[in-house]
Amino acid sequence: MRTLIALIACCFVTATASANDPPPIKAAPAKGIEPVRPHYPGAGNQGAKGSGGDASSSSASSSSSSSSSSSSSASSPRMSEREREAQAEADLSAKIAARLAVMRANQAARAAAQARAKKVAAVAAAAPPVQFRSNHWSYEGETGPANWGRINPDWAKCGSGNRQSPIDIRDGMKVELEQIAFDYKPSSFSVTDNGHTVQVMLSGGNFITIQNRMYELMQFHFHRPSEERINGKGYEMVLHLVHKDAEGRLAVVALMLERGRPQPTIQTVWNNLPLEKLETSTPSIVLDPADLIPQRRDYFTYMGSLTTPPCSEGVLWLVMKEPLQASPAQMALFSRLYPLNSRPIQPGSGRMIKESN
Ligand SMILES: [Zn+2]
Repeated sequence: MRTLIALIACCFVTATASANDPPPIKAAPAKGIEPVRPHYPGAGNQGAKGSGGDASSSSASSSSSSSSSSSSSASSPRMSEREREAQAEADLSAKIAARLAVMRANQAARAAAQARAKKVAAVAAAAPPVQFRSNHWSYEGETGPANWGRINPDWAKCGSGNRQSPIDIRDGMKVELEQIAFDYKPSSFSVTDNGHTVQVMLSGGNFITIQNRMYELMQFHFHRPSEERINGKGYEMVLHLVHKDAEGRLAVVALMLERGRPQPTIQTVWNNLPLEKLETSTPSIVLDPADLIPQRRDYFTYMGSLTTPPCSEGVLWLVMKEPLQASPAQMALFSRLYPLNSRPIQPGSGRMIKESN
C-alpha cells in the first residue's frame, strides 16, 4: 500500500507539472493503459476508483478511468485484498506511464522550440544591426533640414548641436575687430552643380588671415535665399567662401547678395555652368575671388557650423556687413536651378556675436 500511495503522489506531481506544459499534447487515453491490464484479466479497478484525486487531475486520467470501468469493472468477489491492491497498482502504473509519455513529449517539444529560438537569436546576433543610414538630404520634405540629424548617425549634430548655423545675427558686441587679411589672386577653377548648389573649386594659393591663423580658400557656393539674417533681415542670396587651415579648422566668409549691378565674377561662374548636374566643368580661363570682396570690410563674427550635413561645429563665421550686388538676371538664373536651398535659422543659444565698430 505504501507503494500505491507513493505512486499516487508521484502521479499527482507529474499531472500538476504537465498542466503547465505548453504546448499541450494529449495523452493517448485508454490505449496507453490497455496493454498493462491483461496481466489481470477480469480484474476490477476499485483501487483506481479509490484514487479519485488522480482521476480528476487531468482529462487524460479521467478518460482512462471511464474506459477502464467499462472494460474491467467486473471485479471478482473472490479477488483477495492483495490482488486488488496489485491490480490498482498496475492500473496506476499504466496511468503514470501515459502521463510520463505526455511529459516527455512536451519536454521534447519545449527543447525543440528553445533550440529554434536559440538559432534565430544566433542568426540575429551574427547579422549587423539594422540602422537607417543614407547620404541623401535635401531642403524639403522627409529628407529636409528638420530630419537631417536622423538620416545618418554622422549627421547627429544637425539635430542635437547647439552651435549651429545659420543664425539671425543681432545684438552683436561692437568692438574694434581686426581686419580680415584677404590674399586672393587670379586662379584656375572648376564649376560643379552638386545637386545642392553651384560650387566653384579653386586651385590653391588663396588665403585669409584672421586671429593669427591662415586659412586657405577651398571653394565658394551660393544659397537662395540668404541663410543668415542680419537683425531679422534676409537677402535674396548669399555667397559662402569656405576656407580651411593647416589643422583642418574651417572659416567661412559670407557675402550677402542684393539686386543691383551685374557682378562679373558671378557671371564668369554662370558662363561656365556644366550642362548636367553632378558634372564638373573646368574652363581654361582664370577667376579672381578678390573681385568678390566688398570695399568696406566690416563684418560680424561668431562660432557656428556647416549649414549642410554633417553640420560640423567649430566653424568660424565671418559675415561681411556690406552686401555684394548682382543683377536681377543673374539672380533669376540661379533661381531656375535652385529656387530654395537654404537651411532655416538655428537657435542662437546665447552665443557671443561680435561686430566691427
Ligand atoms: Zn553655404
